[in-house]
Order: sequence, then structure tokens, then C-alpha cells
Amino acid sequence: RIVYVNGEYLPEEEAKVSVFDRGFLFADGVYEVTTVLGGKLVDFAGHAKRLWRSMGELEMTPPCTEEELLAIHRELIARNGLEEGMIYLQVTRGAADRDFAFPPEGTAPTLVLFHQEKVIAESPAAEKGIRVISIPDARWGRRDIKTVQLLYPSMGKMMAKKAGVDDAWMVEEGMVTEGTSNNAYIVKGGVIVTRQLGTEILHGITRAAVLRFAREAQMTVEERPFTVQEAQAADEAFITSASAFVMPVVEIDGARLGTGTPGPVATRLREIYIEEMRKAAV
Ligand code: PMP
Repeated sequence: RIVYVNGEYLPEEEAKVSVFDRGFLFADGVYEVTTVLGGKLVDFAGHAKRLWRSMGELEMTPPCTEEELLAIHRELIARNGLEEGMIYLQVTRGAADRDFAFPPEGTAPTLVLFHQEKVIAESPAAEKGIRVISIPDARWGRRDIKTVQLLYPSMGKMMAKKAGVDDAWMVEEGMVTEGTSNNAYIVKGGVIVTRQLGTEILHGITRAAVLRFAREAQMTVEERPFTVQEAQAADEAFITSASAFVMPVVEIDGARLGTGTPGPVATRLREIYIEEMRKAAV
């Protein structure tokens, strides 16, 4: 694999980041994951916009312009011959002697990009649907910032794995916030319900696109919190993320939803999303 680090394209064995990097020492970094379909980027503009917002909220200096970032993504796709998969990008506040206070102005940020090949559109999981458990949401309070501080979501995935299921939905004050790495939705009587935007959840780029397509298809969307009990009584459920697209959920804490197979709303939204995103990819 050829990866990108601070201006250079290198074989992954040769790419190096300092042991003093603040991403490593303080999780002082932000990231994005952009999907590649047919060698093109899905919703690059959406991911770039959120990246700049994350950096702004943390007073981080952008390592380059949006145009330069797009060019780096394209160069990485070309150098690796990537057709389908993901591009991961991470920006940190750079390397500086260990100190809780931010390093002096002028400290160069660290920018790293690499790809992962993955079959995304023709997913076997989407045919079957996934099973989730609910767990407490023990993350910090600014989940709208896409930081690399992912230890709790990582533990959540392990809790799901140990329970023999695919993922976990996190619950705070009795209400579902989101999945460990995705936004959560239920459907009841044709109405799509998903938590409203705020600091409690990540503002999913896939979420924004899917809600737009749902409204364009005359589906009703309610942006409000819901409980696990309401979810278990729903007709269907699903999650969205850049790497899972729209993924049906068929079981929550052992309770099967509807027939236990992917529902019509999730299935239709998945089809619309893939079709529209293939057309709009850059
Ligand atoms: N919520 C969380 C906590 C996530 O980690 C992700 C994926 N990064 C999402 C939601 C989905 O966001 P997106 O659609 O932009 O991938």
C-alpha cells in the first residue's frame, strides 16, 4: 500500500509519525472516512466541510486547502489503483514536547491518509441485516466533533462481539444516541425516526444525504430521540455510515423486529443512496 504522510507518498513500511505526535499522546486529532466507489469519492464535499468544522471547534490549523485535500485523495486512489473501499484521513495538532496546553502557534499539523480495500455496495450483511445490543453511552460530551478518541466505541464493538451480535447502540438518559460508528434509525407506520442533531451525536454525512433522499421520495422523517423499547416495537430499523451506507437492523437486545429480515424502507433507501452516490461521486 502507498500511504500519504505530510507531503509524501510512501510505501506503508516507510511512513513514520513522531512518538511526540499529539494524536498519539492526547488523541488530539480529527479524522474522516470517505468511501470510494468505481474509483471515485462519495460526497467528498460533505466530508471536507465536516473536517473543517471539527478543526475549527478544536482551534486546529488546517494542514492544507480543501482543493489540495481532494487532490491528495485522488492521487492516493490513482497510485493504489483503488476501485472500491475507503480513504481514511487524520489531522493532528502535530508533534511537540508533551504538555497538556496546545503547542505554540506555527507547530506543523500532521496529515496522514491511507486506503482500505473493501466491498461496500454488494454487501452480504445488507441482505441479512445486522443485530445490535444497547449499551450505556460513556463517551465525552462533544460527539459532534469527529476526534480520533475512539476507545469507548471500540469497547462497545467488543461488547457486541462478546454478546455474539454485530454492533451496539448507545443509550443516554434512556434515549438512543447512535451506533458505535453510525447513526441509528427506526421506522414505525412508515415514519422514519432518528435523533436530532446536537452535541450528543456525530452529524453523519450519510445521514444528511439519506434524510434528503427520504424526503424527496415523500417519506415522513421525525428528528427526535427514541428509547430502546420503542425501537424494539418498531417495524424496522437501520443504521447509516460512510462505510456501511444504509444497513438494515433486524434485532435489538434479542427482540426481533417485524419478520426479522431487512425492511422495505431500509432496502429502498439503500438502493436510492447507492444509485445517487455513484452518479454524484467525484
Ligand atoms: N456516528 C458515529 C459515532 C460515527 O463514528 C460515524 C462514522 N464515522 C457516524 C455516526 C456516521 O457518519 P458518516 O455517515 O459521516 O460516516
